[in-house]
Parts: sequence; structure tokens; C-alpha cells
Amino acid sequence: MTKQTAPILVLGPMASEIDALTAALTAPEETVRGGYRCTAGLLDGVPVVTVRTLIGMVNAAAATALAAERFHPRCVIIQGTCGAHDPALHRGDLILGASLIEMGSYYTPHRDAGAGSCYNDYTFPGVQLAADNAGDRVRTLHSDPALLAIAEAVPYAHGARVTGTVSSGDIWNRELDVIARLHRECGSLCEEMEGFAVAQVCRMLGLPMLAVRVVSNSEWHADEAFDESVGLLCQDYCRQLIAQIDLHFGEGNEA
Ligand code: SAH
Repeated sequence: MTKQTAPILVLGPMASEIDALTAALTAPEETVRGGYRCTAGLLDGVPVVTVRTLIGMVNAAAATALAAERFHPRCVIIQGTCGAHDPALHRGDLILGASLIEMGSYYTPHRDAGAGSCYNDYTFPGVQLAADNAGDRVRTLHSDPALLAIAEAVPYAHGARVTGTVSSGDIWNRELDVIARLHRECGSLCEEMEGFAVAQVCRMLGLPMLAVRVVSNSEWHADEAFDESVGLLCQDYCRQLIAQIDLHFGEGNEA
């Protein structure tokens, strides 16, 4: 059986979420396209392309599409930091995003002028249309089950590790009633600003993807304000994960 040579694409929004992996590449070759920096190289002998997507849904989608066209990856990992929705989670805990929802996509009921607004009345998450399939209205996207199973077998030493739903959107929620509602009604474990956009592009391109996040902040705990340095823990985990993906994912299935 031929060994896979198509690279694994690893995305991280900010320098603190991707630069450690990029620095670990041997024979790095950097290309910058429209402000998105991609670095192709070998990570512990495995072909990898790291991409600094920058922050937010639009950047993440554009960077994913451009890098997929250029590098023809065998799969995509979106990873980085997140804010906890589940009060049981703490800074440093790791989340595998089996499911992803878009928390910025919602419908509001009609209200008369001057009646104000109330988030509690909003209906979410809203529908995304998967254009390849008329009538296919999607609220939830999913990480690839085989990638998820590989990730669940990789030990994580820096905190708890849980698998579940990740919320994405160009939003930083600090209102506990909103956070509690997302947790209660959608089963959301955490929030970030890129995962759903990456999952949507990957779905459209037929690319398997996996979402991995480390908790960098929690409104539930007063002493757990944003600390971007935990981005290193997630990258360290992804380094171990990539070695396992190379061994177990996509053999005999040339991309
Ligand atoms: N406050 C930082 C900016 C962080 S932007 C600064 O001013 O430098 C948010 C980035 O961190 C996004 O890439 C997002 O994916 C992630 N993130 C971490 N915690 C988050 C939270 N609570 N809500 C939304 N995104 C969060």
C-alpha cells in the first residue's frame, strides 16, 4: 500500500495558535496569498501545511478554500483557543468538536419600533444551505468520525478532554445568560470564531475535517480570563495527533 503523500492542512487563527507548529516544520516553504501565510514542510516526517487564517469566519473560510486549492490536503484540522460554555470546563481543557454550529446565525421575532431586543426570543442556530443539494438545510456540521476516533486515542496531559459541540461566530459572548442558553439548548461546550466556517467549506469541497480547541477563558470562573498562551497546549496535542493521523487515516485512499 502506498504511503499517503498529500499533506495534512493545519489551521490556526492567530500567531499564538499556529506559530509553534510552523516553527517545528523542517524544510519549510512559505507562501503568502492575500495575507494568509501558508507554510509547507515536514512535521516529524509527515507532510503538513500550516495556515495562519487570521481571526473570524470570513478569514477562516477564505484561507481554507485557497489552501485546499493549492495544496490538495488529505484532511484539515482547525485548532486554537476558545471560551468555555460548559461551567465544568477550565482553562487548559481540550475540546474535540464532533459537531459545530453557527451561533451568529439566528432569526428574531418581529418587534415594533421602540420595543428593544431580547436575545432570549431569538431562534438559533439558523439554517445554512449546502448548495450542492437543493433543499439540504443544515444547522449542524460534523468533524470526520474517523479523524475524531484517532484524536480520542491521543492522550492529552494538560487538562480534561471532552468531545461535543463547538459554537462558532464573529462574536465574543460574555453574558452568562447567553452562554448558559447555548450550553443548555444546543449542548455547546465552547465558542470560537472559525470552526463552523472551515467545516462548511470542507463540506462543500468534500474534505474530511476535525475541530480541536483548548479553553483559554471562561466567564463562569472569575480567575479564568483570556490567556492566549494555552494555544501552545493545543498545538502540542495536534503535533501528536498528526503523527497518528499519518499512520491511521486515508491509507490506500490517495487524495
Ligand atoms: N482579545 C484578543 C482577540 C482574540 S480574538 C485580542 O484582542 O488580541 C478571538 C480569537 O480567539 C478567535 O480566533 C477565536 O477563535 C478565539 N477565542 C478564544 N476565546 C474566545 C471566546 N470566548 N469567544 C470567541 N472567540 C474566542
